[in-house]
Amino acid sequence: MFYGKLRRARPPVKVGTRLTLWGMGVTLAVCAVLCCGLYVGLSVSLHQEVDSFLEGEVQEFLAILQEEQDDSLEEIERDIRRELGSRLRRDLTFRLLDTAGQVVVTSDPHDALPDPWAQPMPPKRAGGVPRFDTVESSRFTHPVRVCSQWADLPARGEFLAQATYNLGDIAASLTTFRRLCLGTMILAAGLSLIGGRWLARRILHPVQRMTAAARRIGADNLSRRLSRTGNEDELDRLGAVLNEMLERLERQFSRIQQFSADAAHELRTPLAALRGNAEVALSSNVAESELRSVLEASIEEYDRLSRIADDLLLLARAGSGRPFLSPSRFSLQAAVRDVVDLFAPLAQDKGVSLTFTSESTIQIDADGARIRQVISNLLDNALKFTPAGGTVRLSLAASNGTAELMVSDSGVGIAPEHMPHIFDRFYRADAARSRPAGGSGLGLAICRTIVEGHGGSIEACNVDVGSCFRVRLPVSSE
Ligand code: ADP
Repeated sequence: MFYGKLRRARPPVKVGTRLTLWGMGVTLAVCAVLCCGLYVGLSVSLHQEVDSFLEGEVQEFLAILQEEQDDSLEEIERDIRRELGSRLRRDLTFRLLDTAGQVVVTSDPHDALPDPWAQPMPPKRAGGVPRFDTVESSRFTHPVRVCSQWADLPARGEFLAQATYNLGDIAASLTTFRRLCLGTMILAAGLSLIGGRWLARRILHPVQRMTAAARRIGADNLSRRLSRTGNEDELDRLGAVLNEMLERLERQFSRIQQFSADAAHELRTPLAALRGNAEVALSSNVAESELRSVLEASIEEYDRLSRIADDLLLLARAGSGRPFLSPSRFSLQAAVRDVVDLFAPLAQDKGVSLTFTSESTIQIDADGARIRQVISNLLDNALKFTPAGGTVRLSLAASNGTAELMVSDSGVGIAPEHMPHIFDRFYRADAARSRPAGGSGLGLAICRTIVEGHGGSIEACNVDVGSCFRVRLPVSSE
């Protein structure tokens, strides 16, 4: 845990710095691998070249020995030294050793190679494959490459012919190459640092712009958007996605603002009525009967307030995604019948004919109280907007696992321009008619929230006379 705290306390490394360091690391790794490969290749090819050169020289030396069979060894030595002297090859030496390992001919007057031969004598294989060795010499600071081959000279017997080559030049070439590699890597590191920094800045520039733009966006200016490069790359797509998110937030935010304003506006009317009632009740010369009717009106306003509060609470709960329904199995037919019975006296008072027909018993798994609330809202509206002498019909049927409740009336109907909005919160097609009748414009919004919460649907149908609402709900599976 303590280690975790320590790790979190580490200052964050900027993305640009990380990109630059990664770029530099990769460049250096590639350069290192390339340089190593080239170095090994160069070293191997130089040594191979030396070996094949020495092998040719040994063969030439043997040819001279064959040719000058009759000459003494001193004469041969003189000839070789003369020959090499004319070639000015100070790194090349010829030697002839007897079977005891003693040098009998050498082209180098200061021959300082180990004598007798420090290495085990090569096995006698006249005319066989030459042997190659690398030996240290006190005379040279660098090792010496030696090619040895046994020769059987008819007049003189067996000898070991050698050609040696000082590897100093090769070591110098390889040192130069190493320095070159080092220089290349330092240059590559510098260039990749500068290039990486420039590239990271270029890549991250749109991100910085987006960050600055996002900082400026707040609740008071949600309509601002992030600027996009328009080249359809990942960052541009991120900008588009963030802009879409801002769009959704703006819509949601303005809906909440509208909802709060509507709710406040809706609460003002009953509150103003209650205050008026209280003022009347407080006036000194109010008769008892008037006081009574003022208090009764107040109770109605209290009811209205508490209904609005309940509706708002339900909408808020449903909007928050928290469960707001308590389902159980019940007969939809019986539930509709209960509500119809409840409204029957009101319909009778208004002189409206109220009928309910149903095909069969339909069981549904739903929140009984909420479904009754839906039926009550629809029935209340139908009676509210249907004049005396009109009819309100409810019919219930089921098909393909769906229960369908139709509530139709012969009332004022809904104008086509209001149709798309009647399920919106606080929307009233005819406020002058709806508000005095106690409508807050939340009834149909509540109906839709409840029905959709049950996985069903609700819609207003187009009819010639009056209005018609269709509610569909899933029927219990068994
Ligand atoms: P309210 O509670 O004010 O009635 P609703 O959300 O229930 O609000 O209804 C919204 C609006 O839809 C009403 O104001 C009314 O104009 C219209 N409406 C709803 N039902 C009917 C209907 N049966 N006949 C005519 N208009 C209706």
